[in-house]
Amino acid sequence: MFESAARVFARLGTDEPITGTEVVVGRAVVLGGSLAGLLAARVLSDHAESVVIVERDALPSTAARRPGTPHAGQLHTLMHGGRMQLRRFFPGFEDEAEAGGAIVSSPYNIRAYADGVPKVSDGTMGLLSSSRPFLEALVRRRTLALPNVKVLTCRVKGLQFRDGAVTGVRCGPVPGSGEGAGAAAAEWVEDADFVVDATGRASKLGDWLEAAGWERPAMRRMLIDIDYATGYFRRTTSTPELAAAIAYRTPTATPPRVASGAITAIEDDRWLITLANYGKQPPIRTLEEFRKLCGELPPVYREAVSGEALEDILTYHQADSRRRDYHLLKRFPARLIAIGDAVASFNPVYGQGMSSAALQASALSEYLRSAPDLRAPARDFLALQRVVVDAAWQISGSADLARPDVDGPYPRGHRLTTWLAEQMARASITDRDVAVRFNSVTYMRSHPSSLAAPSTLLRALRVNLTSGKPQRERG
Ligand SMILES: Cc1cc2nc3c(=O)[nH]c(=O)nc-3n(C[C@H](O)[C@H](O)[C@H](O)COP(=O)(O)OP(=O)(O)OC[C@H]3O[C@@H](n4cnc5c(N)ncnc54)[C@H](O)[C@@H]3O)c2cc1C
Repeated sequence: MFESAARVFARLGTDEPITGTEVVVGRAVVLGGSLAGLLAARVLSDHAESVVIVERDALPSTAARRPGTPHAGQLHTLMHGGRMQLRRFFPGFEDEAEAGGAIVSSPYNIRAYADGVPKVSDGTMGLLSSSRPFLEALVRRRTLALPNVKVLTCRVKGLQFRDGAVTGVRCGPVPGSGEGAGAAAAEWVEDADFVVDATGRASKLGDWLEAAGWERPAMRRMLIDIDYATGYFRRTTSTPELAAAIAYRTPTATPPRVASGAITAIEDDRWLITLANYGKQPPIRTLEEFRKLCGELPPVYREAVSGEALEDILTYHQADSRRRDYHLLKRFPARLIAIGDAVASFNPVYGQGMSSAALQASALSEYLRSAPDLRAPARDFLALQRVVVDAAWQISGSADLARPDVDGPYPRGHRLTTWLAEQMARASITDRDVAVRFNSVTYMRSHPSSLAAPSTLLRALRVNLTSGKPQRERG
């Protein structure tokens, strides 16, 4: 029976407790122990006798940064779509996060500005704010507390296949770790009845498939050329009136020095502030320039950077958004999937990656609860996963395609979707009703098709036709 993408998306985004789990797999191996890998391991713990997470970094016991996730020092917003799944996978997660220092805010503690104009609050969605290492450490602690989950520190080098299914993971020591000195000792195979690739956007799964005579998935790329600069500053109030803010500029032919700035109160009485810019502009590297540029944003930014700077500015560059279309492959091994950034990595400015990973984990849970035929490729999972990835790709892609410095690839019907998104974004600045619906999509609670409902579209058009020019906030 046909089921719309919106219905599937709503089902995957549920916060209903997970019930009806059965063990259907012997030994599951998850490649990569970052957010997507941990969430996949959490889901697999309901369905596998044992789960092994294979990670090249020695995973810290605290909220420390580590080499395998060089982006972790940058601001990470957990959207509501992802937050619901964390609540679902780990009951009591938010209380634990708050007790550990994360900030739980109401929608009235959050401000958003479009071209300096304060946006109306949607009045519905608050945030759970922390640093990315804090969030990951909590997810890791909860996942590794499960009795059938363990971590193995080594580097994945490839996969083994037999009779149309994956059967093992080829592992080697981490270079520089001093282990496995001889070439013979340098590689071994971890047996696996089910494998999840969660090795991030540089995943080599396509190479491994091709080397073993399978098809490699096509990779779609959109060049975004984004630079992040992040500063950490001392916060003087532990319960700030403002918990988070986002200020962005609408695209123009000459990209502004700061395309968007986000600020969030995080654990240990700190402000985390990220400035993003596009194109061939020099990265923002010095504290002096960082403070100066924050001074050109709404007043809250200036206030936040006036405190003590806690470390040097951290920079990060991402050249493209990319997705690998596993669902299009004609031949694909059984008992193998990929998840998270290994499948789709978006422009980080839209804050979708962790929520997309969490919703894909929800798709894995639904698949494994459906008594799947594990002798066949996991096509039912790929179809569910595609709904999540398509939704996130459409939202970030249509916003990026509106930028004059991005030149495609333009999907079919992009003019219409970009126009629609622009109408919604504009009306959401002043109209609460449109803001509720628009934010629900950008926060990954609702499918983008909900914005095409005639009542929503008409309301947005009416608002845009009748509202005057909104006023900038003055400092
Ligand atoms: C600058 C920036 C800002 C972002 N901001 C946000 C945000 O605000 N909100 C949001 O939701 N998302 C954000 N994201 C996206 C988010 O970080 C990712 O989507 C999320 O971390 C899920 O990633 P992952 O687990 O799939 O991959 P990664 O986090 O990249 O993890 C991959 C893991 O695999 C391991 N690994 C890789 N190769 C091997 C191997 N051969 N053997 C063993 N282990 C291996 C790595 O060490 C690592 O631990 C941002 C990303 C960037 C770059």
